[in-house]
Amino acid sequence: MRDMSAQQGKVALITGGNKGLGFETARQLGALGYTVLIGARDEEKGAQAAARLQEQGIDAHVIGLDVTAQATIEAAAQTMKTKYGKLDVLVNNAGIGDRHKFTDLSLADLKKSFDTNFFGAFAVSQAMLPLIENADAPRVVNISSSIGSITLHSDPNSGVYPLKALAYSSSKTAFNQLTTHLAFTLRHTAAKVNSVCPGFVATDFNNGYGDLTPEQGSRIIVRYATLAEDGPTGGFFNEQGVIPW
Ligand code: NAP
Repeated sequence: MRDMSAQQGKVALITGGNKGLGFETARQLGALGYTVLIGARDEEKGAQAAARLQEQGIDAHVIGLDVTAQATIEAAAQTMKTKYGKLDVLVNNAGIGDRHKFTDLSLADLKKSFDTNFFGAFAVSQAMLPLIENADAPRVVNISSSIGSITLHSDPNSGVYPLKALAYSSSKTAFNQLTTHLAFTLRHTAAKVNSVCPGFVATDFNNGYGDLTPEQGSRIIVRYATLAEDGPTGGFFNEQGVIPW
């Protein structure tokens, strides 16, 4: 039997929470007692996801949020300020893939990846910062990828080395800088801000292929969303430990 009282009163926002890793992260945090806000660019899909969680006894709500649309981000922050006044957990999960090789990649596709994976996560984090600062022990988890590691991309012996899709990798590399800079911004608080790689997870993102189920891939996200006060901040981790930047 899960203890749903432990995190009662704590609020978590998961961007792209309507499916895949985001949905499963919301389910696991909800099962721990968090009030979970399903950020969804399609409110109908988000409402359906929230309803599925409510059926499991989870305090889940949809919040309209397209990370590439500033007006929706500001409206979400305003609603959350009025309703909750704080944000205990922010999971910057919304992301898109791009498999173009260097020679086939258009500037438009490169910008598209950055719009969602980096600029979007920045815009959400900046808008939510006052709410994050109002929480006693806030946690920010940025769902990155080992494919964003420059160190692994420059090591011919790494499994990441041949996975050269510039738009996705470089947008996740930039996203990792969001982690270090936000951790620095919050360094005098109890906040913890980290990047995590969930592994190769079978979601729509990979057309259903992967080594892990969403349930398994989300465990590391939930672990970093619920880090104890002596946990790390400003780092990059997978299940095996530290990932080199
Ligand atoms: P997914 O099933 O495709 O889910 C992606 C989620 O992001 C969907 O809810 C999608 O909404 C949302 N999204 C995309 N653009 C958005 C926008 N502009 N505003 C708001 N939401 C947006 O993929 P996933 O595998 O769960 O991936 C989640 C995160 O994990 C991504 O950041 C991805 O890079 C990262 N990741 C995944 C893997 C993996 O193996 N799956 C590995 C490493 C990292 P819609 O339903 O409206 O499209």
